[in-house]
Amino acid sequence: MSHTPELPERYVCDGCHAVYAGTVTRESGSYHYSAPDECAACGTTEFIQFEQYVRRRTQ
Ligand SMILES: [Zn+2]
Repeated sequence: MSHTPELPERYVCDGCHAVYAGTVTRESGSYHYSAPDECAACGTTEFIQFEQYVRRRTQ
């Protein structure tokens, strides 16, 4: 599984299921994504990667 700069990693809030685009930083030519610090809606700091969220919901 590879990440492309054009499609940021997405994260789902574990509290209210709001979806956020990951914060992207570039280090030595490669991109890194990180979840937001906290949910603006419910304040939780727990986030799930979007792919994992979809997998969990469809099992
Ligand atoms: Zn939330």
